[in-house]
Amino acid sequence: MRIIYDLDEMTKVARGWLMGGSVGFVPTMGNLHNGHLTLIRTAHNECEISVVSIFVNPLQFPSLDEAQRYPHTIQRDLQLLQTVGIDVAFLPSQQAMYATSFATFVTPIGPVAERLEGADNTNFARGVATVVTKLLQIVRPDKAYFGQKDAQQVAIVRQVVRDLGIDVTLRILQTVREDDGLAMSSRNSLLSLPGRSAAPLLYQALLSAKSAIDAGEHRAAVIKQGMRDALTNHPLIMLEYIAICQPTTFLEVEQIRPGTLLVVAARIDNVRLSDNILWQDNGAWLL
Ligand code: AMP
Repeated sequence: MRIIYDLDEMTKVARGWLMGGSVGFVPTMGNLHNGHLTLIRTAHNECEISVVSIFVNPLQFPSLDEAQRYPHTIQRDLQLLQTVGIDVAFLPSQQAMYATSFATFVTPIGPVAERLEGADNTNFARGVATVVTKLLQIVRPDKAYFGQKDAQQVAIVRQVVRDLGIDVTLRILQTVREDDGLAMSSRNSLLSLPGRSAAPLLYQALLSAKSAIDAGEHRAAVIKQGMRDALTNHPLIMLEYIAICQPTTFLEVEQIRPGTLLVVAARIDNVRLSDNILWQDNGAWLL
């Protein structure tokens, strides 16, 4: 595994791959867990060359302080990447990615950028769009891998790739969960024991909503109220939002039909958790 810190070196290496087979790329912020590793193993299996970036992107956090508090476990992450057998770990520095002269941003607009995660954190969409555009530009992969866990990030990346004509195939993989259903996240380790016991309730509320929808209740307001009732009574769960929306635009829907996303975000122990399930166009659920 080659470790690359320098942007020019990454660009040069990527240029050398142009005829060398397909390149799979997994952008991450590190502190790797099995959710990341599933994306990384899939990229490694599907492509001749695999690249994983670890970069805590300050642009997408609500404040610099929150970005600085993000867990760094770089030595452990590199060991994990080594065991998977990827070709390149790309670890650009903040200064390399955003020099003091940096002045160009990719700014998505509209509800997908402004609602839910974007309402909470006005830096979110621009931060994600800018860093993903820059990383794709440097690594130039054939396929880029993202987790459905971050559904709004997926929608933003799809929009950017479509709008800017970026030549990459997006591979979106299902959310990887703990045995009790909690979506794996770097933040789960910050939960207290009681908080960790409460956290699977988010997924349970989504599954109860799915059961009601499968049983024929398609009014979004009714389903949302059921989820709200399930979550607001718990003393440790501070609900931030429940949304039932179109998965591309993130506009709310009134009637639930195939092609609808159910999303929930809450704070537990002041740790922000989010989860979602998707009723896909083909009628199958992505859980
Ligand atoms: P992050 O390091 O949190 O930016 O995540 C890097 C990538 O891993 C993103 O595309 C995430 O959506 C994805 N990811 C994070 N957690 C999970 C999970 N539990 N299951 C699947 N993908 C995940």
